[in-house]
Order: sequence, then C-alpha cells, then structure tokens
Amino acid sequence: MKTPAWRELAFLALRLTLLPFVLREIFQRKKVTIIVYHAPSPRVFDAHLNILKRIYTIVPLSGYIEARQKGAFSKLPPKALIITLDDGHRSNYQLKAVIERHNIPVTIFLCSGLVGTRRRFWFQHEATSPIVQQLKTLPDAERVAILHEAGFEETKEFDESQALSGVELEDLKPRVDFQSHTVFHPILPRCLSEKAEAEIAKSRIDLQTRLGTEVYAFAYPNGEYTERELLLVEKAGYRCALSLDRGFNTKTTPLYKLRRICIPDQAKPSELIVKASGLWDIIKPLLASKTKAWQAPRVKRYA
Ligand SMILES: [Zn+2]
Repeated sequence: MKTPAWRELAFLALRLTLLPFVLREIFQRKKVTIIVYHAPSPRVFDAHLNILKRIYTIVPLSGYIEARQKGAFSKLPPKALIITLDDGHRSNYQLKAVIERHNIPVTIFLCSGLVGTRRRFWFQHEATSPIVQQLKTLPDAERVAILHEAGFEETKEFDESQALSGVELEDLKPRVDFQSHTVFHPILPRCLSEKAEAEIAKSRIDLQTRLGTEVYAFAYPNGEYTERELLLVEKAGYRCALSLDRGFNTKTTPLYKLRRICIPDQAKPSELIVKASGLWDIIKPLLASKTKAWQAPRVKRYA
C-alpha cells in the first residue's frame, strides 16, 4: 500500500519540530517503549531497525519482565525499546535474515490454532472484510455465526497458509521469542467466560508443547481486555500481558496491562520516529476532532 504524500509530509513536519527528540530525551529516557508491528516487509523492517537502533536501545521483552520481577528496573538501559509483532503472519518468516543481521531481540505473538496449519485469520476472510470492524464489536457467537454464513470456519484448511508453519517456527526459534495471542484470535471481552478462559489457557499450553519453551507473555487480540481477562491471564500462568493502551512502561505499570505503540507496517521513517516517541498519541486525539482525514482507515487488515 502506498503512503499518501500528504501523510508523509505531515509526519516529516512533526519530526522537524524536534518534539520527538525532546520526548525521547525527557519522557522516554527512563521508561520502556514497546512497539508492535503485524506483517512488515523485510525492506521496511530493515530500514526501521536501522533508525531504531540509532535512537533507542533495543531490549528483549523477557529482560524487561525479569528486571521488573527482580526489582532491577533501574538497571535497564536508557530509552529501552522492545519490538513485538502480533499474529504470527506467514510473511514474518521473511524477516529472519534482517533479524539475524541486526542481531536484535524480537517477540512474535502467535495464535496457537493457526500456526503450523493452513487455517485462516478470521479478520482476513475476504467475504467479510468490509465489516471486520463491526464484527469486532459483536458478541462472539454472533461474529462466529456471520463468518459461518460467509463460508468461514476456524478449523477449515485452505490451499495456502496465512500463519507461520511448524518448520518456519523451528527455524526462527533460536532468534525469536514466541509468545501467545490466543488460539483463534477472538475479541476476548465479547466471548463468554468459558471461551475466553480456554483461548487464553489453551494457547499457552499448546505453544509450550509445540515449542518446548516457557510461554510467559500474552497479547490481547485487538488490544482489548476487561478485568476478567486480567484475572484469566494471570490464572493461566502468564507473567505479563500486552495491550494496545497508549504510553510507555515504567517499574510500576501493571504487568497485565503493558502499553504498546502500534507502528503501521508501511510507515516511512518520519512516521516511525514520530509514533515511537509517543508524540502521535498525544496529538492524534486533538487532530481527530478537527479532521477525519487524520484518522486511521476504517478497515484494518490486521488486529
Ligand atoms: Zn492480533
């Protein structure tokens, strides 16, 4: 997808205010920033890593969690940044060479019911793509019924896989920290308690069995959770959970409500720098009320 020229210019203008620099030096210096991608291309990911390595210190998610649990938060480097990717899209495998070349830690959150299969992400089903955002707001049983009517089943296999294969997971495992993003990616607060609990607990067990490593972190699909999900995630044995709540993380941020900043997969350098600094999260609500043009597209491919 091509980034419109006005958007590029707008982020360049924001970058040139030097506010991202000021925010980094003042607000981010002693905090941990977590960013999230979905399916960036190797070219974009490589360009982003070149920038991020220059202005932040990239640390592993596990390093931050251990520092929190050992009371050693102050030992983390200044301007620490954690890189995560949600969903385990098949194209993530193409990032292997980039991850190796940069020698940086990356966490990928997987849907245990999709990896190693040729099943599909429900939010990428073509017939329902125009109503994905509406489907996310419906009670889960209604979402499932509408998808069923449109020819989608969670366990139906297709010719091509959309998620990482078993072989690809094994190949990436030495370089990538794989964690959990449910089994089939429902929007948890719309699920009945029994399903929410199963999606949270089973994905951890499934992934630990498949990978033979500890699955300690959970990412809420679409970033959505309620008090119920916080309890279920803790009960299932995870040590932390990541939301899409805006802001940075400190030594006191609740471990089951860690904050993340979403970086669009096609973001140009200025957009990356502005968004990673948190500046966009500050000014977006102000601009959104002025003009619709600044708002994100209504239909997102990923969740
Ligand atoms: Zn997701």
